[in-house]
Amino acid sequence: MSESDSQSQEQITVVLPDGSELDVAADATVEDCAYEIGPGLGRDTVAGKLDGDLVAKEQPVYDGAALEIVTEGSDESLRVMRHSAAHCLAQAVERHFDDVDLAIGPPTDDGFYYDFDNLEIDEDDFAALEDEIEEIIEADYEIEREEVSVEEARERLADEPYKLELLEELAEEGQQVTFYSQGEWEDLCAGPHVESTGEIGVVKLLEIAGAYWRGDEENTMQTRIYGTAFEDESDLEEFLERLEQAEERDHRKIGNEMDLFSIQDVTGPGLPLYHPPGKTILRQLERFVEDLNEESGYDYVETPHVFKTDLWHRSGHYENYKDDMFIFDVGDDEFGLKPMNCPGHAAIFQDHSWSYRDLPIRYAENGKVYRKEQRGELSGLSRVWAFTIDDGHLFVRPDQIEREVEGIMDLIVDVLETFDLEYEMALATRPEKSVGSDEIWERAESQLKSVLESRNLDYDLEEGDGAFYGPKIDFAFEDAIGRGWDGPTVQLDFNMPERFDLSYVGEDNEEHRPVMIHRALYGSYERFFMMLIEHFEGKFPLWLAPEQVRVLPISDDNLGYAHRVANEFDDFRVEVDGRDSTLERKIRAAHDDRVPYQIIVGDNEEEDGNISVRDRFEEQEYDVEIETFREHLEGERDEQRIEPDFLAE
Ligand SMILES: [Zn+2]
Ligand SMILES: [Zn+2]
Repeated sequence: MSESDSQSQEQITVVLPDGSELDVAADATVEDCAYEIGPGLGRDTVAGKLDGDLVAKEQPVYDGAALEIVTEGSDESLRVMRHSAAHCLAQAVERHFDDVDLAIGPPTDDGFYYDFDNLEIDEDDFAALEDEIEEIIEADYEIEREEVSVEEARERLADEPYKLELLEELAEEGQQVTFYSQGEWEDLCAGPHVESTGEIGVVKLLEIAGAYWRGDEENTMQTRIYGTAFEDESDLEEFLERLEQAEERDHRKIGNEMDLFSIQDVTGPGLPLYHPPGKTILRQLERFVEDLNEESGYDYVETPHVFKTDLWHRSGHYENYKDDMFIFDVGDDEFGLKPMNCPGHAAIFQDHSWSYRDLPIRYAENGKVYRKEQRGELSGLSRVWAFTIDDGHLFVRPDQIEREVEGIMDLIVDVLETFDLEYEMALATRPEKSVGSDEIWERAESQLKSVLESRNLDYDLEEGDGAFYGPKIDFAFEDAIGRGWDGPTVQLDFNMPERFDLSYVGEDNEEHRPVMIHRALYGSYERFFMMLIEHFEGKFPLWLAPEQVRVLPISDDNLGYAHRVANEFDDFRVEVDGRDSTLERKIRAAHDDRVPYQIIVGDNEEEDGNISVRDRFEEQEYDVEIETFREHLEGERDEQRIEPDFLAE
């Protein structure tokens, strides 16, 4: 229904989360709707969500909107409170520092930040700022929302160049914008906020970082202050503890300690170099999925890193993705590094003629891709320019979707269980704008649902969240300290087969379009590797560990025996620590390198032809027969057990 239609009526209708409809006056706000549902809910309303966007409770609703009421104690209300805490930070900064320019200050998933220009600050200033913030909270200023005209906003923001820039961008002449004020301080801000500063719990400042204005490296580098806020002290304590654990596990720190990878200025940003220990782990990961793929009927293909842009025009990447691609000329032709592997695989499929009996066709490739992320966003292995996807593309008949997705789910579950990861999944269905017929969408969605339901899997239904070209199942997993990560995906695609004019000859002798399925088990190796480093804290399971066993001679006299013992384990990744050093130091070094097992040999062991075994949890056993330990190691490796368990029983 168009806007003019809804305005001509006195009543409009909003849709509540349970699917029921609520008729309200045409000028009703979020809060009015809440009171309409019930006075208790009205009183508890903090903010609202309109079609998924968090808005102030004073915001008018519109006809047909999906409305959710945000009440105290919800995740969204925590976001609202943190946004208010960001304002307190900015207020405190302006009380302590002169001539600061304000940029933006939004809430984030676990806190908030505020960006400033012309601010000279270091973390020693945090204590004073935190005290000031506490005073602002104690003063319990009312947080007032005010609608003003663009013209007036321009006057109020005369000294705030960044705010002015935002204003010019988001508002047109004659429109109203909102300001939020508390005490002497105010900000151009869409909100929502809590009612008064006294409703903000405890605030903690965390970190200072540089951030380009609007994330664009051509712009000024500003000062970003990160902080967080919680309802009470104990929630904050819990968060800080998790943060500390996360820092201990930081993959950049462990990656450096274990010599897994480096990212160097001279080789370029976001371009990781894998060192031998890191690549050893990656090769195990590669082999693991290669075996799974081969057992499941995938054929490996290989495509180059660079293609003529003709391919990207055909695939649609040129139109939609050009800004994130590395594009360059060679002679008269334009080329681009591949941001995705799919077009190459579609081109391989297109190079044949296929019958319905040939399908499904399954291609796999560990394909390196390149995406030009903002430099300021690059971070360790989590955001990079070059990464490898354990990519797979299937070309299937519409009636084969269910069986193939079944097969992919088996592989994904195999991966997640091998690494002992908790996971959740979501089915995302047809968005408003989409390509493909009603028939193919309905057929595809019902097949995906049937896969999930036949397995009795719990999943979130994310209606309208699919890609324009097809529905998908997304996995998210949780690591050892409860953090969530994006995981594998299964994505149906009705668009690329059109663009590449892919076809097969059906039983009816007519040409038909196959459906393309994109799937990855790890997703990107880089993200998955990072997650594993942090999940295992560098203490990789035996089958992944770069060095599986280290032999430590007690003195130089035992060096010969140490090498003979190492030879007994030569189908493992084994090293001898032959340095002239004390046993204590050697144990410490092996521990720091997170080697799963140390074999210690001295005169006693040499005389008996035995070994002593020590694991990285500092358990030790003497007089172990070499053969006994060998057998155990083989079992632990081949069964891909998660933790060293020779000494655990
Ligand atoms: Zn704000
Ligand atoms: Zn793909």
